[in-house]
Amino acid sequence: MPTSPFYPNYINGAWQSANPSETFESYNPAQPNVSIGTFQASTAEAINQAVLAAKQAFPAWKALPAPKRGELFFKLAAYIATKKEAWATEMATEMGKPYAEALGDVQEAIEMATFMGGEGRRLHGFQTPSEFPNKWLMAIRQPIGVCGIITPWNFPIAVPSWKLFPAIIAGNTVVFKPAEQSPLMGFRMAEAFDAVGFPAGVINLVQGNEVAGKAIVNHADVGLISFTGSTATGTWIATRCAEQHKLCALELGGKNACIVWEDANLDLAIEGLLWGAFGTAGQRCTATSRLIVHRSVKKAVVEGLLAKIPSLKIGNPSLVATQVGPLIDTDAVAKVQRMVATALTQGATLLCGGKRFTEPPLHEGFYFQPTVLDDVVPTMEIAQEEVFGPVLSVITVDSLEEAVAIANGVRYGLSAAIYSQDMGLAMGVVEQLEAGLTYINAPTIGAETHVPFGGVKQSGNGHREASNLVLDTYTQWKTISIETTRTLRKAQMD
Ligand code: ADP
Repeated sequence: MPTSPFYPNYINGAWQSANPSETFESYNPAQPNVSIGTFQASTAEAINQAVLAAKQAFPAWKALPAPKRGELFFKLAAYIATKKEAWATEMATEMGKPYAEALGDVQEAIEMATFMGGEGRRLHGFQTPSEFPNKWLMAIRQPIGVCGIITPWNFPIAVPSWKLFPAIIAGNTVVFKPAEQSPLMGFRMAEAFDAVGFPAGVINLVQGNEVAGKAIVNHADVGLISFTGSTATGTWIATRCAEQHKLCALELGGKNACIVWEDANLDLAIEGLLWGAFGTAGQRCTATSRLIVHRSVKKAVVEGLLAKIPSLKIGNPSLVATQVGPLIDTDAVAKVQRMVATALTQGATLLCGGKRFTEPPLHEGFYFQPTVLDDVVPTMEIAQEEVFGPVLSVITVDSLEEAVAIANGVRYGLSAAIYSQDMGLAMGVVEQLEAGLTYINAPTIGAETHVPFGGVKQSGNGHREASNLVLDTYTQWKTISIETTRTLRKAQMD
């Protein structure tokens, strides 16, 4: 029997009573025997209820003027600001993100709520001249209906905020399923909407794993699925959505490269590589996983990294000073371990790390040593596939053409960076990089909420999150033609 507190689903503005035969627990990855809470493993029946509530709430929510919807978002931002430290504390224990980073995760939601509150007074359409005098042409944004929002655990407040807030400000209602590894953070998000007075049914929280996720994807009354997670799951979702003619926005994996050129400020590059590769223990879709370095500076860069890695503060994510926490679960450890082992058999050289921590005090948690692999060549699995752990692969090059070709030579295209003091060279490279996010003299991580976020190739399906462009995902255009002359006029013919 679970002993940790039960956190219910939230459907139609009401906290649901527990069905004790269908629950699951969330565990602290730093102390896997500590249960964070017990949650409902939602079945298709709960999903049906949640979708029905969202469907019934939709007409009134759509009809509420967007500036009024925006006012609720300003209240939401203020509410979340009061919870910033408390949520960050819980986030650190629930999914292992160091407290300082967890504060940033919550801060993103505060910024997104403020930003989307402002969109309530914009949501711009456009007006354009007609072919005919005294005829008016315009286009307006309209909400889609019920949106299914399915999110991962690694940004358990920020990523839901990137999806829920634009969906809801645009007049949609939502069914939200957080990851099964971070359900408490999903609960907190629903609690915030409830506390500031969003109408019943606008947001419905259903906890659970892929059973719940699949039921949302398969539900006929859900008009759009917005998903962030693994490429394999994204492929399944895209296929199901195509079969149902359902809209679908995907944010998937990355295999992000950082090019360090011969003229780079090496201290800055080393600092950026440490943060990009080992921040969040490498568990970001934008994490730096490939260092593509010019041969002339390779020794200096690698030695700089190896000198600094031992001083990274690895440990209890709840402590303010901690820089690297644990991986999310035992499967993640096994995957990283297996990929490192494969790299070594394929000819890579282990410069540091490569193993789970086995000594106290880190042996209990899912801690993996920051790992640097040298002699990596682009054909190796470690150079092609996402690791989602603290592993940096070093690829040495002699020419810029080679660097760009290798950076682009993967199926993903999320984030990429170049360190060079020659801005012309750096811009020339950025122009050629196949990535949705690019950085010059900064690491591959660190997105801001008011510029588009998303990838090319298999990192997504072309949609962008954040910025005002995110509204394209959650609205459909309606063109309005107004004939004022009381005559029939035929476009392209009269
Ligand atoms: P990750 O490896 O990042 O955890 P997943 O793709 O496994 O990525 O999970 C991301 C989210 O998608 C989670 O909320 C998970 O429960 C959900 N999920 C997993 N499989 C499916 C599926 N087939 N359909 C819908 N949602 C799913």
